Amino acid sequence: MLFAYFFMLYIPLCTITQGTQEINIPVSQEATNPYVCAKCNLLLFSHEAKFDATEETLSFTRPIFPVNVTYSRLDTFTPLIAVACSGCSNHLGVIYNDGPAPIYKRYSVHATAVMQR
Ligand SMILES: [Zn+2]
Repeated sequence: MLFAYFFMLYIPLCTITQGTQEINIPVSQEATNPYVCAKCNLLLFSHEAKFDATEETLSFTRPIFPVNVTYSRLDTFTPLIAVACSGCSNHLGVIYNDGPAPIYKRYSVHATAVMQR
């Protein structure tokens, strides 16, 4: 955890290669902040665990602290697992098994259920 904050503070630039030209684009501090529950502010997902995003959902490989989320069956007819905030029971999204190796889990989280601290 401490290492993650150290990493965020001392890596202010990211490098994008476009053709043969290298462009340095400053990454704002807010862009690398962790994601917290939108209702109770509980720390849920790190920026490093995010690997995909759309306007409606964000995809994470895992929560920062496993105890900060709870799991339950979405319903009796589908095998999907629902994820909720353990602080306030805010429904966050569901888990799919199509995430990146080695865990292969994708926490598909509603963009409105979390916010960057
Ligand atoms: Zn919460």
